[in-house]
Amino acid sequence: QAKDAGRNAVRFFDPRMQAAVDERMAMEKALRQALEEGELCLFYQPQHDRAGRCIGAEALLRWRRPGQGLVSPMTFIPLAEETGLILPIGRWVLDTACAQLKTWAADPATRDLQLAVNVSARQFHQPDFLGQVRESLLHSGADPTRLKLELTESIVLENVEAVIERMQALKALGVSFSLDDFGTGYSSLSYLKRLLLDQLKIDKSFVQDLTTDPNDAAIVEAILAMSRSLGLQVVAEGVETSEQHAFLLAHGCDAFQGYLFGRPLPIADWRPSDAAAAAERCAPE
Ligand code: C2E
Ligand code: MG
Ligand code: MG
Ligand code: MG
Repeated sequence: QAKDAGRNAVRFFDPRMQAAVDERMAMEKALRQALEEGELCLFYQPQHDRAGRCIGAEALLRWRRPGQGLVSPMTFIPLAEETGLILPIGRWVLDTACAQLKTWAADPATRDLQLAVNVSARQFHQPDFLGQVRESLLHSGADPTRLKLELTESIVLENVEAVIERMQALKALGVSFSLDDFGTGYSSLSYLKRLLLDQLKIDKSFVQDLTTDPNDAAIVEAILAMSRSLGLQVVAEGVETSEQHAFLLAHGCDAFQGYLFGRPLPIADWRPSDAAAAAERCAPE
């Protein structure tokens, strides 16, 4: 019997289940090591305004796993969230993003760019999250008004009042907020104005079939109309075609992010001039 093997030696009799558990533990160990050994890095994906100018970027996490190439955050963020590793990882992301902002500030070509950073619910709800953001900003010397925090609707599931209070304190530092993956979560529309958001981010799942699926077109139109009346900026993510871009432009979308403008790239390959060239291609007549 498994129990006889002792409390610390419980065995799963389904070998596939055991394999899954082993793999998970191996990945957790590897991820912990990745943070310590500097295998994590940020990629930067440009965002453009209506006139086609590059106005900033979103920082997207990548894991250069030895022997396995680039690992997508889709595969390791959920594990990081479950294990709590997202806390030190999220801190590293904030520190790295702020350092990048400081570097951009030294060059007139990049000094006005905003950098959007993804914040997981667990990270946001840490008692000292405010202190961490303040510390990242102070330590790097980055301009807080260049930093944008991307929150998801899951953050609001817990205690709305506490979330609003925390957002107020962060806003007092000068940072701004974008609501990521908008439309895919569960939050109530009534929170939208109360949450002190600056921006909504239309999820790429709505943008994808915008020009072929009338339902998605209607949803996107509604989001844009509602945001206008609430005074919220809107950025569309996953813009891949000029047809999608034209639709969004025609319905008042403020900013655009997607392969049409540029893929996420390591900072060494990131040139605002390339971004400007992409903007030329995409600019309206
Ligand atoms: P997200 O924040 O919604 O990021 C947008 C995702 O869409 C990114 O995937 C990006 O590469 C992808 N994307 C951008 N443009 C296009 C396009 O035109 N077409 C298509 N098909 N995809 C596009 P990525 O980099 O794999 O990130 C996936 C998710 O991982 C992010 O979704 C975010 O939720 C999470 N994530 C990434 N970095 C971090 C981080 O530093 N912290 C936390 N907590 N989560 C992160
Ligand atoms: Mg995001
Ligand atoms: Mg998003
Ligand atoms: Mg998304």
